[in-house]
Amino acid sequence: MATWEENVRKVVPYTPGEQPKAKNIIKLNTNENPYPPAPGVERALREMEVQEFRKYPDAETKPLVDVLAEYFQVKPEQVFVGVGSDDVLAMSFLTFFNSKKPILFPDITYSFYDVWADLFQIPYECQPLDDNFHIKIDDYKKECGGIVIPNPNAPTGVAMNLAQVEEILQSHPEVIVIIDEAYIDFGAESALTLLPKYENLLVVQTFSKSRSMAGMRIGYAIGAPKLIKYLNDVKYSFNSYTMNMTALTLGVEAVKDETYFRETLQKVINTRERIQKELKALGFVFQDSKSNFIFASHPKYPAKELFEALKESGIYVRYFNKPRIDNYLRISIGTDEEMDALVTFLKNYMK
Ligand code: PMP
Repeated sequence: MATWEENVRKVVPYTPGEQPKAKNIIKLNTNENPYPPAPGVERALREMEVQEFRKYPDAETKPLVDVLAEYFQVKPEQVFVGVGSDDVLAMSFLTFFNSKKPILFPDITYSFYDVWADLFQIPYECQPLDDNFHIKIDDYKKECGGIVIPNPNAPTGVAMNLAQVEEILQSHPEVIVIIDEAYIDFGAESALTLLPKYENLLVVQTFSKSRSMAGMRIGYAIGAPKLIKYLNDVKYSFNSYTMNMTALTLGVEAVKDETYFRETLQKVINTRERIQKELKALGFVFQDSKSNFIFASHPKYPAKELFEALKESGIYVRYFNKPRIDNYLRISIGTDEEMDALVTFLKNYMK
């Protein structure tokens, strides 16, 4: 190793799901929404004035903050916007997890958490899910430097109920509790209703899943004004202009169309419920999903082999070669046609 290399910050990065270039594949590997963004988004995009790109965007991300504040009936001082919830979560780790005590998160969870913890040198302790992939609430009552849990959890799709989230908050007034609600709209109860009671709660959501805008990179956090101020202080010490003009403009449009949002959500949920029945009939086992994916295992067919056979036939799902979950596939909910193609493939494969 060269001498200069000794002082390089070395990290093991997060591995995102594959984004294959081929057009005619069925892509069920990164929990994207199969439906397009709200029609107003396309209209606003066409009307954007390229001239404006000469200027810097609004550093305060005000248009988007205001529309989200109105939508969620909170004050603008309670909203922080970032480049996808990954950016918001990374900033939150950097801002709030600054204790010598370990932060807590599940052993099977979003695989970016340990990457950020390592990057920012935050000590952490993983709490094992039970054998059915449920969170054991009592594990989160110990002394710690903070807590982060996705609800519903990923990649399991299992949700906590509001009473369980509140139990964790009640036992930890002394640290920040982050609830990562990337998949909340698909069927779990949001912790947003607990905000008036808990100043140390930060709820993080995204436009990537339920609002079909993964490519625009928009995420946000909602919490007490004090928390948002601390987050902004860190953001402005890092990069004043995190959100580009296009994302700010199109994000506003996505929030405006509640009817389209509800219709799209319902379509994904209906497909999920139908496909859960079909997969069960084929012998797959999984916990009831409250998200836009199903985390399934088959007692007869090894997940890795299924994953490879599916990929060979142009159907991409996600496989994690990790302890406890190396015999599972995470299957995102696509359109009805896409899911039917998946089921047809599986039926033939198992013949
Ligand atoms: N949290 C969880 C639990 C996720 O699965 C994802 C998606 N990979 C994210 C946050 C980040 O999503 P985004 O940055 O697209 O908002």
